[in-house]
Amino acid sequence: MRYISTRGEAPALGFEDVLLTGLATDGGLYVPESLPHFSLEEIRSWRGLPYAELAYKVMYPFVEDAIPADEFRKMLDETYGVFTHKSVAPLVQLDTNEWVMELFRGPTLAFKDFALQLLGRLLDYVLEKRNQHVVIMGATSGDTGSAAIEGCRRCKHVDIFILHPYQRVSEVQRRQMTTVQGDNIHNIAVKGNFDDCQRMVKDSFGDQSFLGGKTQLAAVNSINWARIMAQIVYYFQASLSLGGPDRSMAFSVPTGNFGDIFAGYLAKKMGLPISQLVIATNRNDILHRFMSGNKYEQHQLEHTLSPSMDIMVSSNFERLLFDLHGRDGAAVKELLENASRGPVSIEDYRWKHARKLFDSDAVDDKATCDTIRETFEQNEYLLDPHTAIGVRAARNCRRDNAVPMITLGTAHPAKFPDAIVESGLTVKPELPAHMADLFEREERYTVLENNLVDVQGFLAKHWKNA
Ligand SMILES: *Cc1c(COP(=O)(O)O)cnc(C)c1O
Repeated sequence: MRYISTRGEAPALGFEDVLLTGLATDGGLYVPESLPHFSLEEIRSWRGLPYAELAYKVMYPFVEDAIPADEFRKMLDETYGVFTHKSVAPLVQLDTNEWVMELFRGPTLAFKDFALQLLGRLLDYVLEKRNQHVVIMGATSGDTGSAAIEGCRRCKHVDIFILHPYQRVSEVQRRQMTTVQGDNIHNIAVKGNFDDCQRMVKDSFGDQSFLGGKTQLAAVNSINWARIMAQIVYYFQASLSLGGPDRSMAFSVPTGNFGDIFAGYLAKKMGLPISQLVIATNRNDILHRFMSGNKYEQHQLEHTLSPSMDIMVSSNFERLLFDLHGRDGAAVKELLENASRGPVSIEDYRWKHARKLFDSDAVDDKATCDTIRETFEQNEYLLDPHTAIGVRAARNCRRDNAVPMITLGTAHPAKFPDAIVESGLTVKPELPAHMADLFEREERYTVLENNLVDVQGFLAKHWKNA
């Protein structure tokens, strides 16, 4: 399998290089040159497989040039073996034909574990083989950082530096990052917002001279192709559990950077019958505004009760734009260069095509809280604020009540207790047993000014062989 850039100029790469590369050299994102396609018969034959085995079937075509089958199977067994529910991604029923898929049974209680637990293992395997070392530099508004740290804590060939906005992530989220012990783990609290952190990461990738040529940066943010790949699997799992592929499914996906829902779009292109995909955003609704009015325009960042979806631009949306433009990299390049200067639109027929592929909704904090409260009152089931946005959008956008509607449950409610309080409930979400002592564990992190030179200096000084 070859991977090509959405901006059409960078060289095509194999899986190993795509894994180790962040942005393509032309500023684009890597996507597979062509997708594997599975027949209904083949998909049907996967019914009842354990999660790790299904993951093997869905993902192996993407990695087969780089990793022997038995090694990949072993990695998948380890990756999904650490999840605390035997089915890995259990479904919970809210109403007739309405479900939540709980993707928060991994070590850090959010869906990002599905990809990042695997990514750590993939990286170490490839680096060992190449006798190479990398420094992971990432920015997080919360969930990515802890999942990445957890995924890389045992890596021999990786140092990881995670930037989070100082005092802007929840205490649970911060502690999940800062209490993980390991020489190769470094947390930096930047006195700025998430976008400041993200910009520093981007600038550092653009010019890595501060590392003195002795190691290289690798990315774990959602533009890394391997993360998208790992997220395709659970769409198949949910469908197979509810009678697919012999009936089609609808999914509602709490969306920030468009990674998770893009994986659903790929599952559909790979042959899984999906009749509806709902983009569920909070008030940071650039995608909903684009879907409703064909105008792609950055607004100010708003802080909401669903911080993991607080974004101004959705980086993975570029991957969809590439397809919408008939995979014309030059057109995507021009569009996104214009988009960095002001609002842009795409040709009407392309936009109409996007609207056939996706529905969308934006849910504010009040509606989020209402949904948390109503769902608890009706089902005695606690939604986290991100998942609540998905549930609300699913109900607002639903096209066909006969089609099972599955909302991706992206985080455990105990990660975001503020939203539960805000919704007027007195019930307190409990952390699962393996994290019950989180508030007693020792924290380690460094606070730095919102300044690129300081942050780069810290990295240069603290990676393992510096
Ligand atoms: C990261 C995250 C999202 C958004 O996912 P994207 O792939 O960026 O769209 C939604 N909910 C939670 C809890 C997250 O951690």
